[in-house]
Amino acid sequence: MAAPMKVEIQEISQSKGRGFIAIHPICEGEILFEEEPIVCCQFLWNAFYKYAACDHCMKALETAEENARRLCNNHTLVLPHPECCSVNKQLYSVCPHCQVQYCSEVCRDTAWGMYHESLCTRQSSKDPDHPLEKLQEIWRNLHFPPETANIMLVARLIATVKQAKNKDLILQKLSKFCRTTKNEEKEIAHKLLGAEFQAQLDVLRTHTTEALHEETVETWFTPEGFNSLFALIGTNGQGVGTSSLSTWVNNCDDLDLPSTDRETLDAFIDKLYEDIEKESGNFTNCEGSALYALQSTANHSCEPNAEVVFPHDNFIVGLKATCDIQPGEEVCICYLDCCQRGRSRHSRQKILRENYLFRCDCSKCLLEAGDPEETSSEESEDDMEES
Ligand SMILES: [Zn+2]
Ligand SMILES: [Zn+2]
Ligand SMILES: [Zn+2]
Repeated sequence: MAAPMKVEIQEISQSKGRGFIAIHPICEGEILFEEEPIVCCQFLWNAFYKYAACDHCMKALETAEENARRLCNNHTLVLPHPECCSVNKQLYSVCPHCQVQYCSEVCRDTAWGMYHESLCTRQSSKDPDHPLEKLQEIWRNLHFPPETANIMLVARLIATVKQAKNKDLILQKLSKFCRTTKNEEKEIAHKLLGAEFQAQLDVLRTHTTEALHEETVETWFTPEGFNSLFALIGTNGQGVGTSSLSTWVNNCDDLDLPSTDRETLDAFIDKLYEDIEKESGNFTNCEGSALYALQSTANHSCEPNAEVVFPHDNFIVGLKATCDIQPGEEVCICYLDCCQRGRSRHSRQKILRENYLFRCDCSKCLLEAGDPEETSSEESEDDMEES
């Protein structure tokens, strides 16, 4: 890395474990670091619904115009400023054995060297009886959208260990992720798989073993070990989202245009998003999840001073300051999505406890600690659905 890091990993507290502390003044908008994941994988329903992404780096493969046409179901739509689309299809490449798509030969070769040699079905048309196809089918039937985890992330992790020249190195990286107790692991599995989770974990474990058994990590294939692995991706998996249309919009925003042209373009984009929302709702991105060695160290705050960004429209994550940060301050992100963030302390704590297994004691939660334990009617309904 060229510039020295402005944050340092330090022990924060017994309850929070390690986190990022600013060691230099940080300005709003600064990217503190960027990193590639240990593993990443697109969600299965997302891929099933034809959100085309590079099978390795998750870069969106549709052009912005193709993307816009599909999402608003208008096949004659023409986007102005095609130069703002960053997609270059001439660089695309496929696995010659199974035809999965990559954004470049580099991604194809990297994937093959890291995990794809073990995961390639070597079939150009899908054979539903292949153990890996069966595993995916089972997962899709267990875990409907909105997707939050992915059995193929587990599969890629096993395959990565299988193919690693230095297996200790990757196992050492994994050992840094947060540890959970057996009871907490059950809670996570319950949350992700529903009431029948124990039986379903067994089914997933059997099929994963059949497809990918690996001696180096023998314990991962035992019932306890598999539950732990599952909990690891459940609590540490970071959502990844990419979109060629968003990239096009961002590039359009940067264009230097006469004011009337700017107004026309902005109106066009507003109308486009309206049409997309009518046709496709909020599901507009290629979505998946990934494990990041560094980024996963960032703790949560309901009043964060940083956010996770994907500055290259692929799986490279960046940690970006959302305000000025002084040396000594902890750099925190918010694990909650936009709608969850505005909720009462009671609701926020419930979501965090159930999904990430911790009690939030951020400044905002402490400040609101005296508030009555009430939720608005909408929140109560959600609480009922969730329980
Ligand atoms: Zn790629
Ligand atoms: Zn292949
Ligand atoms: Zn909080």
